[in-house]
Amino acid sequence: APAGPTAAHGRLDEAEVRRLDRAHVFHSWSAQATIDPMPVAGAEGSWFWDHSGRRYLDFSSQLVNVNIGYQHPKLVAAIQEQAGRLLTVSPAFAEESRSRAAAMIAERAPGALNKVFFTNGGAEAVENAVRMARLHTGRHKVMAAYRSYHGATAGAIALTGDPRRWASEPGAAGVVRYWGPYLYRSAFHATTEQEECERALQHLRDLVMVEGAQTIAAILLESVVGTNGILVPPDGYLAGVRQICDEFGIVMVADEVMAGFGRCGEWFAVDHWDVEPDLITFAKGVNSGYVPLGGVLISDEIAATFDHRPFPGGLTYSGHPLACASAVASIEVFEEEGILAHARHLGDDVIGPGLRELAQRHSSVGEVRGLGVFWAVELVRDRTTREPLVPYNATGADAAPMNAVVGACKERGLWPFAHFNRIHVVPPCTTSDEEVRHGLAILDEALLVADEQAASR
Ligand code: PLP
Repeated sequence: APAGPTAAHGRLDEAEVRRLDRAHVFHSWSAQATIDPMPVAGAEGSWFWDHSGRRYLDFSSQLVNVNIGYQHPKLVAAIQEQAGRLLTVSPAFAEESRSRAAAMIAERAPGALNKVFFTNGGAEAVENAVRMARLHTGRHKVMAAYRSYHGATAGAIALTGDPRRWASEPGAAGVVRYWGPYLYRSAFHATTEQEECERALQHLRDLVMVEGAQTIAAILLESVVGTNGILVPPDGYLAGVRQICDEFGIVMVADEVMAGFGRCGEWFAVDHWDVEPDLITFAKGVNSGYVPLGGVLISDEIAATFDHRPFPGGLTYSGHPLACASAVASIEVFEEEGILAHARHLGDDVIGPGLRELAQRHSSVGEVRGLGVFWAVELVRDRTTREPLVPYNATGADAAPMNAVVGACKERGLWPFAHFNRIHVVPPCTTSDEEVRHGLAILDEALLVADEQAASR
């Protein structure tokens, strides 16, 4: 392979970082010739910057994972301390940081979820949760929602019900698709939250009947749907799913990879509705992605299935000491700094009211919704028809209206999370009120571009 680094022992300048990236880094989810990834030189708190020092307020938390902000000194110190003491030991051993992290996560989890199976990220957690559910029930099918994202490994991508369709389809056998609640674009023609809730539950129940409950291992859902639009379930929905699972001996799996660890202002999003799933998958916010980490929280009942029968799963690096040390520090930071309460405050008092005000002033805003530090602004061409500002999977000229809005944010130093026809407002949970207001003011200006784009046809 040609073209090694030109400065083998020094820091590379921005042009060199970019050149080597374009020559040798194969980027995820991208047509390689169409991208120009921005080199990031550093970050702190809710901000990151490029090599020239141009700063961006991060309203994306990268991939909605930097929940405690960048370079928190306590996490940096914990990682350094662990690195100096013990860098690697296989999952077959007990290790101090791993034991502490598992105990701390289990203590904060609902009820009988007392064991943690560590993974390297979210998709792997979903793979293993499904495997546990299948072995526990002796059944195979998994019910997974349209408008969901569960990860990009073979099983998780097959479970994902995202309007982006994958080249790897038809995926895995035994995935049964259902509609979850989403009143703004109701699959059930509902007009109220309560109607949406009742109809979504009836639909799920009907599917269980026709599929045959005795064939269904698990119902998988995102407690609050993330990538597909920050869809907060109506009150009663998660409890209703819990009831269906109880009635038919189905394992309830809550995927909290994105919604957990502070994003919704609680340790786990299900805490809002006091619902106890059998398995919870987590990753991202558990340690803000400082070192790759994810896991499955397991109920006592399901854990007991594997008391005298080996669980077939695990990777070389599962529960890596560096990752676990950073999770311990992160959970301590959450409590020392009152981050859960701050996340709730940001949602209730700053982001929610701020976005509702923007919705009144901008004709392109169809709906704003969310909770905690987990919000979406859904952009439309027409508020009556609710036609999205761009079509599903838009590329090229079709995607131009959203690209213009995103560009307007970036020009002004705000890094948004844009997906399809939505801007997700998902800054770190530690962002200050002033910083959030600053970001919302920029968004306000960028939405003028959205209004123009919506009207220009
Ligand atoms: N599950 C949910 C709900 C997610 O949002 C994601 C990632 O965005 C995943 C699973 C996959 O996690 P990872 O990218 O760490 O594999």
